[in-house]
Order: sequence, then structure tokens, then C-alpha cells
Amino acid sequence: MREQIARLMDLQVIDRQLQEVEASLANIAGRVEQLREETEKNQTELQRLTEEDQQVAAARKRIEKELAEGEARTRNKRMRLNLVRTDKELQAVTHEVDSLRETNQRLEAELAQLGESAESRSSRIQELGELVAKGRTDLSAAEKEIAGQVEELRATIGKQHQKRDKLAAEIDPGLLSRYNMIFQRRAGLAVAVVKPVNRDGKCSGCQRLLPPQVYNEIQKQLTIQFCPSCQRILYYEAPPPAEE
Ligand SMILES: [Zn+2]
Repeated sequence: MREQIARLMDLQVIDRQLQEVEASLANIAGRVEQLREETEKNQTELQRLTEEDQQVAAARKRIEKELAEGEARTRNKRMRLNLVRTDKELQAVTHEVDSLRETNQRLEAELAQLGESAESRSSRIQELGELVAKGRTDLSAAEKEIAGQVEELRATIGKQHQKRDKLAAEIDPGLLSRYNMIFQRRAGLAVAVVKPVNRDGKCSGCQRLLPPQVYNEIQKQLTIQFCPSCQRILYYEAPPPAEE
């Protein structure tokens, strides 16, 4: 029985190391993944804005052309104003000139608005272009940098798993599965050392005193005892024999 618990203690050491190594591996991979996501997001926005910019540039060209035509038409109408002979004709041509002028003003306002949005967009495009370029450089540097680390960590994990499997094979399956369950639920501490406190014993997992009969049983080291408060497997180390 004592051997079983001692093996569980060894297993717990390995499991805790594994947990740490796996966490640092996830951490490293997570940082690179985050960098990749950010760069992709910037790249997508850059592409969208570039397309929008091209569309707006085409729209501006179209409006500029329309405006030039409108201005030419206005000049023609004005010239015709000098040639009109009747009031009725004067009224009609004046009306046409006014309506052309209104159209031209509307086109000018549209152009001005497009020009304004183009300005803020082109500065954002430049900013994004720089961000994407920097992101790609950082990403490839980070990938190179972690490649070695990741390999090392994976090798460590593989070795630890082998050690763990060997040890686990020598532990009673029922006890092992109970250990696994407690390890998961109790944040990586399934086997708790019992600390002597005066005549009693304390569970180092939950820091509560154990009932006297549980403490008695543990000291006999014949059965496996669980902490009644936190359900952890209790590990008792007999004190060195007292000097006479
Ligand atoms: Zn406890």
C-alpha cells in the first residue's frame, strides 16, 4: 500500500512537470497564433480599403468627366442667352442655365466629399501596409525562434509521457483512475502530504485537521486514506524514530 502511494507521489511530480511544459508550449504557440491573426486581420482590412479606394477613384473620374461636360454645356447656354430674342425664350434658357448650374454644384459637392474620404483612407492604407509588413517580419522571426523551443519542449513531453506510462502501469488501475480524476479537479494536487500537528495530522491539500481515526489509520500505513474534506489521497511519511 505504501509503495502504491509512493508511486502516486512520483507520478504527481511528473504530471505537474508535464502540466508546466504543456502550458509553456501552449503559451509560445498562442503568441505566434495571435501575431498571425492580427496580421491577417490587417491584411484583410488593407485589401478591402484598397478595393474601395479603386472604386472611389473610378467614381471620381466619372464625376469629373460629367462635371466638365456640364460646365461646357453651361457655357454654351450662356452664349445662347446673348442671342435670344423673345422674353419667353430668355426665360426658358435662363431656367436651363440655372438647372445646369445646380447639377454642377451637386457634382462638385460629391467630388469634395469623395476627396475627403480618400484622404483619410489613403493614410489608413499606408498605416496598414506598414503594419502588415512589420507583422510578417515579426511572424517569420517568431516562427524561427520558437521552432527550436517547440521541438525541445515536445521531446521533453514525449520523454515524460514514457516515464509516466511506465510508472502508471505499476499502480492499481482503480487507484490510478481516482488519482487522475482528483488531479484534474484539484488543480494538479491529488496526493497531499499529511503534516503532524501536535497529536493530530493536517491535510496539506486543504489545510484541515484530519479526524483522529483517519490519522490513526494513516499512521498504520496499511490502507489508502482520503481526506474527508477535499477527497485528496493522503500521503504519510513516518517521522524518524525518536531518540531515547
Ligand atoms: Zn484535504
